[in-house]
Amino acid sequence: MSQYYVVECKTRKQLRTLARIVRETLHLENAVWFPIIELLDVLTVVFPKFNYEIVEDDELPEFIHADTDIISGNIRIKESIYNGACDGNGRDRMTIAHEICHFLMLCSLGFRIQRSFGKPKPCEDPEWQAKCMAGELMIDKRLVDGMSPLEISKKCGVSIDAAEYQYEVFRREK
Ligand SMILES: [Zn+2]
Repeated sequence: MSQYYVVECKTRKQLRTLARIVRETLHLENAVWFPIIELLDVLTVVFPKFNYEIVEDDELPEFIHADTDIISGNIRIKESIYNGACDGNGRDRMTIAHEICHFLMLCSLGFRIQRSFGKPKPCEDPEWQAKCMAGELMIDKRLVDGMSPLEISKKCGVSIDAAEYQYEVFRREK
């Protein structure tokens, strides 16, 4: 029988609010291009529990680009992903945002997480929550109004896939 992890349910609206609090705390509410690499170093100063390390690519499985240990608060990032994010690669920037969101929700804010034998609903799925919050953090709805997915991708420094996904989310809310 498969095991899953379940977290207390959070809606996109709640996660958007959380992403905005992060931006406001950092005085980055108007930053279209969110400086996600710099946030790693800021978190190191702000949270004694937070740490990140850049590891050789072969230290993590092929399809894992980075991971977060929610007990220790340590994020491991593959060297190629970190370098890609520094070069502005959208997918790599989003990978780092995703792990930071795991840290913030599970380590810093302490969302309750439990093992479950049933598949979680999306709002209870820690992966959906991290994906949702990372998208909201990197692509702020207030700042991309009227932009096409291609513009969002270029100006926010995210992949075209992420830009299209978020664009659709915002379009459906209208
Ligand atoms: Zn994840």
